[in-house]
Amino acid sequence: MNTHVSAPRHLESYLSGVWQRGAKDGKALLNASTGDPVAFIDASGLDLATALEWGRQVGGANLRKHSFHERALMLKALAQALMDLKEEFYQESFATGATRKDSWIDIEGGIGTLFAYSSKARRELPNTRVLTDGDVEPLSRDNSFSAQHILSPLHGVAVHINAYNFPCWGMLEKIAPSLIAGVPCLVKPASQTAYLTELMVRRILETGILPDGALQLLAGSAGDLLDHLTEQDILTFTGSASTGQMLKQHKTVVQNSVRFTMEADSLNASVLGTDAAPGTPEFDLFVKEVAREMTVKAGQKCTAIRRVIVPSAFHEAVIDALRSRLGKTVLGDPAREETRMGPLASLDQRDEVLARISDLCEDAEIVAGHPDRIDVGFGDAEKGAFLNPVLLSCSNPKSAQAVHDVEAFGPVATVMSYDTLEDAVDLAQRGKGSLVASLFTNDRRVAEEIVLGMAPYHGRVLIGNRTSAKTSTGHGSPLPNLVHGGPGRAGGGEELGGMRGVKHYMQRTAVQGAPELLSAVTGRWISGAQGQDAGVHPFRKSLAELKIGDQLISNAREITLKDIEHFAEFTGDTFYAHMDEASARANPFFEGRVAHGYLIVSFAAGLFVDPAPGPVLANYGVDNLRFLTPVNPGDSLKVQLTCKEINERINADYGEVRWDAVVTNQDDEIVAQYDVLTMVAKTWPLAMA
Ligand code: NDP
Repeated sequence: MNTHVSAPRHLESYLSGVWQRGAKDGKALLNASTGDPVAFIDASGLDLATALEWGRQVGGANLRKHSFHERALMLKALAQALMDLKEEFYQESFATGATRKDSWIDIEGGIGTLFAYSSKARRELPNTRVLTDGDVEPLSRDNSFSAQHILSPLHGVAVHINAYNFPCWGMLEKIAPSLIAGVPCLVKPASQTAYLTELMVRRILETGILPDGALQLLAGSAGDLLDHLTEQDILTFTGSASTGQMLKQHKTVVQNSVRFTMEADSLNASVLGTDAAPGTPEFDLFVKEVAREMTVKAGQKCTAIRRVIVPSAFHEAVIDALRSRLGKTVLGDPAREETRMGPLASLDQRDEVLARISDLCEDAEIVAGHPDRIDVGFGDAEKGAFLNPVLLSCSNPKSAQAVHDVEAFGPVATVMSYDTLEDAVDLAQRGKGSLVASLFTNDRRVAEEIVLGMAPYHGRVLIGNRTSAKTSTGHGSPLPNLVHGGPGRAGGGEELGGMRGVKHYMQRTAVQGAPELLSAVTGRWISGAQGQDAGVHPFRKSLAELKIGDQLISNAREITLKDIEHFAEFTGDTFYAHMDEASARANPFFEGRVAHGYLIVSFAAGLFVDPAPGPVLANYGVDNLRFLTPVNPGDSLKVQLTCKEINERINADYGEVRWDAVVTNQDDEIVAQYDVLTMVAKTWPLAMA
């Protein structure tokens, strides 16, 4: 039986540093399978203006004291702590109607997002408190005036209004990028499943990992929350299009240009390619995926497949295969192992889905899983919000409206057919913008035509075929490193997408000025800023001694024809431009034989390296390598090497140092330019463990 047996509790909000209840007893939240009360929720009378101000003043200041890496490490510690507590969340999650498999997406998928953000931030962002965005833009001939775009955390609160279907992931996938950016969060979960979010927030706060004010929770209605938003706050919303549109037009949101991102209804499509006939691996993969998307979380997923677009020749075969697969779905108490699909989140939600199925029946007929005959394997069909998977078939999707407009947020999908690839694209586009679409094909032409046709209408497109069958993450899984969101009807928002998601909580500012001062602002050496030669080779300095702008200007070295021939013979790179004078001259870029680019880089290393053992531990690559002027025999090269960026690793006895390397010839023309990436000890000699 469903394991949620404890007495219903009164949910509390965590606002302004205090757990507090609303003034009233509140609304009962019922177990999705049994109808028993799980909790009561009420937020009336709570002071939301003060909470937002506390977040801005206390949370924002506390977070901004830390660097990106420090905040990323907080997320990692948090993820580890939550993983240790996951069983408690799984138990609570059964009450929402989710099976253990469903809950895995919500709970461990959410915790995984924290891990992913933590590690990506530490790999991809510098260990600073401000980000640079793009290259320096030189604005003067003499390099005395330049510009650099920077990104700095907004000084407001990220208010996250979430949907009921992912009480954990919905919160975690939004707070991860906000907190990495340095912006505190106020989470408002959907009331229906807020008890699970409340439990997780309690556990998060109990760890003491996040600084004061970094995370607040509002359990209950939003009340006057939006009235108090300022120009520095961010509002994110996941839920129905109607609520989203209302919030987007809220007076304060409009007046203060509050950054708003929305993820709403989505009529996601999956297309079967014309090549994927019954009997092909792609046909089987397609049927499996559609059935899975209909039944995971009882179809209550914003990414679930709602429109099943198939070649007309395979229409009946697809319906037969789906009918057979869906017929094996065992409905019941989500806590039981035999159960394949739990109930919807509430009886109200089931009523809503039944009403939407009636709407769909204007254009389509039910071909599998009649909603009036609910077949529950284990559980109470009266009190639980159970619903069979319902498959519809639409015979004329080009003239139909409802199948492209109505989102039945449950285990419901409609099969519709197409004749040409153009038709398939046209049907997919009739969703008016969705979060995700998928295509099952093993044909390159089909892949190109359908994906390029669907891409402008979708935030993500998955191609399934036999090669990726085992490794594919599937149609319905948003990934932390990929964009989640879609245009038009899907809300027009964008979340996740790795570090792109972090930047949504930051302000991009073009800063113009002398390179010296731009360097001071960004903590990064910028071309044109002063370099300092302290008389000590910079490779002899540990991180404790090294400074941004420390510079070495090497001696000059002449490149001879013998050097070029030696390098060619030694490496085997005997490309004509290095070895054949006449052919090199015939090349429009050269005036004769030229040195290999890699010879230039190798000689440059020979010019700037300090050979003795020292704090520079390793060279792990170069970035942005460009060869700008050909080098001919007789040219004389020298290198300017400047410490550009220092990233001290928090949990290691070294850090990364990025060096700006500029190789010039005897006429001061730049022949090569790149960043050298090294690992440098924090102290030297290394402290032995
Ligand atoms: P709602 O749009 O009603 O609610 C979503 C969130 O908005 C909840 O947290 C809700 O809080 C909050 N909210 C509602 N009214 C206001 C308001 N006036 N001011 C501020 N916040 C408000 O969606 P539901 O969660 O009830 O789901 C309804 C439908 O939305 C589903 O049937 C489905 O079609 C769609 N949906 C789409 C999702 C997607 O990701 N695409 C996800 C979930 C739902 P409270 O719960 O306290 O009212």
